[in-house]
Amino acid sequence: MTPAEICSDLIRLDTSNHGDGRGPGERTAAEYVATLLSDAGIEPVVFESAPRRTSVVARIPGDSPDALLVHGHLDVVPADPGEWRVYPFSGEVQDGCVWGRGAVDMKGTCAMTLALIRRWAAEGVRPRRDLVLAFLADEEATGEYGARHAVVHRRELFDGCTEAIGESGGYSVHVNDDLRIYPVAVGERGTAWMKLTAHGVAGHGSRPAVDNPVASLVEAIVRLAAHTWPVRLTPGVEELLTRLEDALGTVIDRDRLDAEAARLGAVGTLFRGTIRNSANPTMLEAGYKVNVVPSTAHAYVDGRFLPGLREEFLATVDRLLGPKVTREFISFEDGVSVPTGGGLLPELCDALRAEDPQAKPVPYIMSGGTDAKSFAGIGIRGYGFAPLMLTENLNYTGMFHGVDERVPVDGLEFGVRVLDRLLRSRALTATIPEQGVSADQLVPGAS
Ligand SMILES: [Zn+2]
Repeated sequence: MTPAEICSDLIRLDTSNHGDGRGPGERTAAEYVATLLSDAGIEPVVFESAPRRTSVVARIPGDSPDALLVHGHLDVVPADPGEWRVYPFSGEVQDGCVWGRGAVDMKGTCAMTLALIRRWAAEGVRPRRDLVLAFLADEEATGEYGARHAVVHRRELFDGCTEAIGESGGYSVHVNDDLRIYPVAVGERGTAWMKLTAHGVAGHGSRPAVDNPVASLVEAIVRLAAHTWPVRLTPGVEELLTRLEDALGTVIDRDRLDAEAARLGAVGTLFRGTIRNSANPTMLEAGYKVNVVPSTAHAYVDGRFLPGLREEFLATVDRLLGPKVTREFISFEDGVSVPTGGGLLPELCDALRAEDPQAKPVPYIMSGGTDAKSFAGIGIRGYGFAPLMLTENLNYTGMFHGVDERVPVDGLEFGVRVLDRLLRSRALTATIPEQGVSADQLVPGAS
């Protein structure tokens, strides 16, 4: 099967994750993945953290138990069919693209991995290094029913994994016909989702308020939203800026990075959200009747902080909230990063350059988070690397959670070739002798 066919099949299995427990769950997609793995002679482990919240993990044994983890997620964010040109769960192929929710994020990537592994199985290729494949539930919420559950309750499935590749990196950002930037993620900002509570004195709405928590809360979140967070250049972002200067032949003024991000357009989005911490109020909750002053009021804030800046971030939040408002975490994950020198990064970059001579791979830090954080918690160094070549008019960030999400069929085939090259280089393939194929006969990328 081609990656496009598998991608279409996965899109048709609606796995919308509303983040509040509603939705169909990932079971149908997990069963489909398990079947494709079984067909290829790979034994899947299928498990549920809750009814229908299903993940699949499989290990392809190599000669060394020093394992590489390749992870993706099976859930998608919801889509409103009324807004789409093509039904979002159709998986239709039109204009050279597979259309539908999850095409880019990230059923397309899951499909690439499955297509490659099945080709390997047919050719009798196996890795020298163990390869662990994980297709997880619940990434689009907190991962509580997916990666977070797996690293606690299914820890043994990841034994020996030292490095991982996962989502949000390795895709092309078109600059011109001679230059495509490929960001490879080497870190993620930390996540601090907070519930704020303002305390006050309840009373009749007609009387002078003693201490109105609604007003205290609003004052606090206005301070928070209006705060200009100072620029903090972390090593990953500094490395990105230096490599971009080299690739683009331009100087990026460190003293006016917001303007520089705007000037550089799509390339600028690679650092626009990662030069500082941020805290956006997103939900409000207070009162129950117009003539009653409540005793408490709540707001929710999506806080994100750069790797290494947790304490500074929290101290600033507390100062801005002031004494009348308390905070608690509804989800908290520290920032993560891997060094930009060494590790798996050179091989990731080599694999991209080998398949696209116009590629300039660069390291970058993600403004949001992925399952890589959960795996970092058990000591696995994660890279955002889901290789994909996009066309000039399709930009990755627009497709991600966007309307009319779609992925070029050719882009998926490109991704399979890059993965093939990477996994052959890293995990140097060996062949199963009885099949009579030698490694030399297997031309990298010719699958
Ligand atoms: Zn995703």
